[in-house]
Amino acid sequence: MKLDDSELKKRLTPEQYRVLRESATEAPFSGEYVDNHEDGNYACGACGETLFMSEHKFDSGSGWPSFYDVASRGTVKLIDDNSHGMHRVEVCCQNCDSHLGHLFEDATNQPTKNRYCINSCALNFNKKGTK
Ligand SMILES: [Zn+2]
Repeated sequence: MKLDDSELKKRLTPEQYRVLRESATEAPFSGEYVDNHEDGNYACGACGETLFMSEHKFDSGSGWPSFYDVASRGTVKLIDDNSHGMHRVEVCCQNCDSHLGHLFEDATNQPTKNRYCINSCALNFNKKGTK
């Protein structure tokens, strides 16, 4: 799905736009979902596709919402990111290509040893029972 950036610019907050469409990163511990422990799912802030679930969310101490798995296989795509002088793996929405965050190895975290470190403002939380 190709989203219209001028339409998104009107619909999203400036910070959401910077993160989702310009690959910015929100300040740690600033996002609204860092300490969200409610049951539900997390959808892409740009296209609404369900990407992550509360049951995979854990407190990583990183300052960003962290998930050890995706909602289902193929909901995100992973891209090598060599910006800022380091190698990271960028996490993007498979459906609309919007930037979400980065994927890190996290040996302390079971069972996947993966940590999807995602910007709060790239996500929309849908509380269980409301959708
Ligand atoms: Zn999307």
